[in-house]
Amino acid sequence: MSRFFSPKHEKLIPYTPGEQPKDMKYIKLNTNESPYPPSQKAVEEAEKEAKLLRLYPDPECTSLCEDIAQYYGVGKENVVLSNGSDEILNFIFMAYGDNFHPFIFPDITYGFYNVFCTVNNIPYEEIPLKEDFTIDFNDYCGKGKNVVIANPNAPTGIFAPLDEIERVASTNPDNIVVVDEAYVDFGGESAIPLTKKYKNLIVVQTFSKSRSMAGARLGFAIADKEIIKDLNTIRFSINPYNINRMTMAAGSGAIRDEEYFEKNRDEIIATREKTAASLYMMGFEVIPSKANFLFAKSDKISGEELYKKLREKGILVRHFTSGRICEYNRITIGTPEDMETFINTVKNILKD
Ligand SMILES: *Cc1c(COP(=O)(O)O)cnc(C)c1O
Repeated sequence: MSRFFSPKHEKLIPYTPGEQPKDMKYIKLNTNESPYPPSQKAVEEAEKEAKLLRLYPDPECTSLCEDIAQYYGVGKENVVLSNGSDEILNFIFMAYGDNFHPFIFPDITYGFYNVFCTVNNIPYEEIPLKEDFTIDFNDYCGKGKNVVIANPNAPTGIFAPLDEIERVASTNPDNIVVVDEAYVDFGGESAIPLTKKYKNLIVVQTFSKSRSMAGARLGFAIADKEIIKDLNTIRFSINPYNINRMTMAAGSGAIRDEEYFEKNRDEIIATREKTAASLYMMGFEVIPSKANFLFAKSDKISGEELYKKLREKGILVRHFTSGRICEYNRITIGTPEDMETFINTVKNILKD
């Protein structure tokens, strides 16, 4: 830290992204990227836009907002786009959090929420998940605090039914309830329809996972139009050109290519179920997942040792060191071939 760094950031511990090592070629099952390329339509649209990079992109993002609105059956005034969903999450914390409006979220969830609170100087409380890693929604009802729930949750992959989300939204009418649906396409059900009924509900989604566009950085929020106006006030105060031309065009291409999206999604779900069954047969405890990853542990090997041995053999998974989950690894679903290699490698490790 230099001596110029503002003391207001003294307590800031930045988010640690999954490793992207360059020392060798790994089978990457550690950052929940898609193993499949983006839609060819997305690539073609982006290529066309590359010729126009001289010009600023549309700060209103009209055409992509319209495409997303149409896809989800909402109005374009109910959509705001961001540079990855991380950015819109940050805008939400900035817009609605302060000393009198703290946030609450589970103790085991996406590791960025507490960083957003810290960087924006917003008090927060982490509420323990139940022993089985499900959320006790009573902990969130009628609390008079802003709520963030990842659904499915990360890194567990557990999906909570929408009536629980609805209960949280309806019992905290004077607070914001955010549902982070980064993984919802892999078998969950979106709360987007509920945003019409609950004006305090914000649904956040991303093109990074189910649409194979992590490198393009594209996310969005859907909510009541007054909320979207707030978020645009923040967006236009920080970075009105947050969506670059190529990403905007790629996003439209991707969302119009429903057939390709559905094919990849179905393939990943099928591979997930097959991988879960194989791990279970090998004695792993596997948390039931509605995401593009599995969260699993074995009595035969510690979470850390399995992570390290897989890494030596060229397979990266995500291991978290914190207390309750340190025996687990989070395994992103790759191609069927990736997962066959993964399963065989785990078998060999357990044999040694
Ligand atoms: C991956 C992820 C995000 C952010 O993804 P972006 O690439 O910034 O869109 C947000 N929330 C959760 C729970 C995630 O896993």
